[in-house]
Amino acid sequence: MASYLYHLISSRFPSRDKVFIETLDNRKITYGDLDTGSARLAGALVSLGVIAGDRVAVQVEKSPEAILLYLACLRTGAIFLPLNTAYTPTEIEYFLTDAKPRIFVCDPASRDKLAAVAMGAGAAIETLGDKQNGSLLDKATGQSETFKDVDRGPGDLAAILYTSGTTGRSKGAMLTQDNLASNALTLVDYWRFTKDDVLIHALPIYHTHGLFVAMNTLLVAGGSMFFLPKLDADAIMKLMPRATSMMGVPTFYTRLLQHPGLNKEATRHMRLFISGSAPLLAETHREWREKTGHAILERYGMTETNMNTSNPYDGDRVAGTVGFPLPGVSARISDPDTGKVLAQGEIGMIEVKGPNIFKGYWQMPEKTKAEFRDDGFFITGDLGKIDERGYVHIVGRGKDLVITGGFNVYPVEVECEIDALPGVMESAIIGLQHPDFGEGVTAVVVPQKDAQIDEKQVMAALDGRLAKFKLPKKVIFVEELPRNTMGKVQKAALRETYAGLYKSS
Ligand code: AMP
Repeated sequence: MASYLYHLISSRFPSRDKVFIETLDNRKITYGDLDTGSARLAGALVSLGVIAGDRVAVQVEKSPEAILLYLACLRTGAIFLPLNTAYTPTEIEYFLTDAKPRIFVCDPASRDKLAAVAMGAGAAIETLGDKQNGSLLDKATGQSETFKDVDRGPGDLAAILYTSGTTGRSKGAMLTQDNLASNALTLVDYWRFTKDDVLIHALPIYHTHGLFVAMNTLLVAGGSMFFLPKLDADAIMKLMPRATSMMGVPTFYTRLLQHPGLNKEATRHMRLFISGSAPLLAETHREWREKTGHAILERYGMTETNMNTSNPYDGDRVAGTVGFPLPGVSARISDPDTGKVLAQGEIGMIEVKGPNIFKGYWQMPEKTKAEFRDDGFFITGDLGKIDERGYVHIVGRGKDLVITGGFNVYPVEVECEIDALPGVMESAIIGLQHPDFGEGVTAVVVPQKDAQIDEKQVMAALDGRLAKFKLPKKVIFVEELPRNTMGKVQKAALRETYAGLYKSS
């Protein structure tokens, strides 16, 4: 045996000198480099005491070396645990205490402020920068270019990705080797990726979209990618004549639509534009098609499930839908309260089942149990329907999740921070349609009687406590929050009241 997922990936490596990653500063990382670089890092991890099943938590900037580290974890049997670069030390403390990693790898610039946090959680701290620097790379330099991969089977864990919890506590989604392998194989096939593909990769690599959907798919296809540190419309426009495909969140498409150079000629070399992680407005789909002649292919997945559904490669890519269940994946709609499976066309909870579905939440057996039906279907928390042609439509999110620029913000987490401020009685966080971010995080705050508190004070108090993407774009003050007879805050009513807030921004 070998390491299941790494074996799948490496068995499909094209020639060693083929480029896998090209960066904006013209660095080229070949498939041969992936092999030797990941072997050296695997050697370094082992020298630090990492054994199969250990967690390796990673909060680093996007770089080819971060990908080598992911592969090195697969080769040692360690569980890769990427963390959003925006997380503050307070947030990191929770993840490390919960996951108890053997090693925590951070950016060299963050070492000083995170060393105590790592030590408190019992993790050794190492660094990895985006300029081919850091203590972990130093340790890898003296290691062998070959590594005997540790045996791992399809059911062993490959990664833990934290998803914010509606209750305020983040949950670690445990993803097995086969969850990732099976989904990558399906996507290569469904989206027709081959070794001739060159993907524009401007997504972060701590999230399932950039890491697994993009990276694993291109690795299994033996293709190449342009690696951009972040969304940069000018750079993407320049790369398109040398690329074949792009995966992005809807914000990518709204930003590119504002670029004066976007037209049929500029996108002539591209064969596929994919969107996901948040709803793509039908308007964006239509405008993109008008300007470029390409129909954006929208798909639907989540951290816990990898990809579930996709619009077809051939056939109608229907705006406002997320397409069909992928081969091997079953989807159904149920009554959110009773779990009864509903008839075609009815709106209810989307449930999915397949080899892509995660193993459960890290050390939360009760939470895990509560989110699966007895017959193995996972309750996604998304509300939707399946139309007469079999296309899945997402109509809303049962959990009031706000998705801003492709990132999830769970209201409870931000509300807890605001409610703790002096002068605040209570608050509600809602997502409002935003022309740039998809949704803008918006705080509706009820001040205590006679308290003097303004938007500036709320924003200043939250700064540094929460990752920037979670911060409200606007704070609205009201005398009371609308509630139903059960005492629940009616967020739908709030969203309606303030629907046009960002129209002119
Ligand atoms: P994450 O776990 O960060 O990938 O977020 C998963 C959530 O993003 C899903 O449960 C959906 O609510 C949402 N999502 C993902 N893709 C789409 C899509 N194409 N349309 C609408 N919502 C989506």
